[in-house]
Amino acid sequence: MTDTTSADLGSLSPIEFQQRLDQWIKDNEAELTASEPDESKSVEEATAPPRPFQTLLWNAGWLRAGWPEEIGGTGGSAVQRAQVYEGLAAAGYALPETLPTLEVLTPALLKYAPALAHTYSEGFLSGKELWCQGFSETEAGSDMASMRTRAKKVEGGWSISGHKVWNSYASVSDRCVLLARTGEQESRHKGISAFLVDMDTPGVEARPIKTMTSRNELSEIYFDNAFIADDRIIGEVNQGWEFAMYLLQWERGMYAWMRQAWLNNRLDEIRPLVKTSDQEKELGAAYMRALALRLVSRRTIRQLDKGIYAGPEVSIDKLLLSSAEQIVLDLARSVHRGAYELGDEPEDARLVGDFFYTRSASIYGGAAEIQRDVVAQRVLGLPRGR
Ligand SMILES: Cc1cc2nc3c(=O)[nH]c(=O)nc-3n(C[C@H](O)[C@H](O)[C@H](O)COP(=O)(O)OP(=O)(O)OC[C@H]3O[C@@H](n4cnc5c(N)ncnc54)[C@H](O)[C@@H]3O)c2cc1C
Repeated sequence: MTDTTSADLGSLSPIEFQQRLDQWIKDNEAELTASEPDESKSVEEATAPPRPFQTLLWNAGWLRAGWPEEIGGTGGSAVQRAQVYEGLAAAGYALPETLPTLEVLTPALLKYAPALAHTYSEGFLSGKELWCQGFSETEAGSDMASMRTRAKKVEGGWSISGHKVWNSYASVSDRCVLLARTGEQESRHKGISAFLVDMDTPGVEARPIKTMTSRNELSEIYFDNAFIADDRIIGEVNQGWEFAMYLLQWERGMYAWMRQAWLNNRLDEIRPLVKTSDQEKELGAAYMRALALRLVSRRTIRQLDKGIYAGPEVSIDKLLLSSAEQIVLDLARSVHRGAYELGDEPEDARLVGDFFYTRSASIYGGAAEIQRDVVAQRVLGLPRGR
């Protein structure tokens, strides 16, 4: 492995940073390829420690760039993180599949619970730990304010009871950022708090759910009087909604950026396989959509990096993300006709898995119907429908 002096990464200009990154990727091709995450494996195998790809990037400084020194980072702006994700995707590498969760949870933890971030985030960043997000419930997905998982005040902490569902990587995670009700049920979004929970806490059990991609990356989590100490609350009591809304901005910004980097790489793979004039038109439409996504998520990341609230406009990012994902994978399916339906090579399984996963892009992190409502009412100021 080529040594990188990571100490000065935070002070490099975007061009210097990019040049150094590209050169490092080139010099370390063999090691990166050998340790690249393999999503055709089961979730347990693909995410099992020691997670060499993440360790390699961490040791060389690339996963420290753009994060504050207090959590092991080299300083610098979040734009550097965006450069790292895109640099790897452009060189054809798959990002570790739990990295998006890291990008969603860590900025929000830093803002609302810096002490917890300083103690625990380095484990996640360096690949020693995996974390998950415990928000959704069976009757509280889009309508998250109706969640029922309860945190009852007890001496020295909180007793959590309830049930979460659709939690990515929960069954292989070490910690969970959890939302639970601390107010009365009627208090809706005003009575919710956030907690950092260790998954091996007595009374916490994650059960994997097998999805139609036949991977069990999603789970449900049961809480049965699980004790969480007072110092594990994120922010103030009943500040959980505000925390979640801040976190969602990063999900719409940096996560979308990671996905557009992957989609653009996918389009470059597809382009030589396009044969019919219909496919040519679809290719043009797919590039346009991926480019639109790139532009809006670029704007959102830069706003968030400067501490500017991105606002309801991020619903546009989410809508572009889900539609770009689906258009690109529709086209991938079309150019790989035959292999998609009947192929049994690992590449074919990857295509089918990716295709199914992109169908869920209009559900996770805010369903498309809800996002369209937000854009109509809060961005465009249109009247509510009857
Ligand atoms: C791949 C994947 C990963 C996920 N990862 C996580 C995770 O890590 N952690 C976590 O907590 N959750 C996770 N989720 C859950 C996700 O956040 C929810 O699926 C999402 O919020 C939608 O909630 P729901 O599934 O209950 O659907 P519902 O809210 O029941 O919605 C069902 C349908 O009804 C529509 N609908 C609902 N309300 C309205 C309305 N008011 N107006 C118009 N239409 C409406 C929706 O748009 C949707 O089409 C994940 C989901 C997926 C698919």
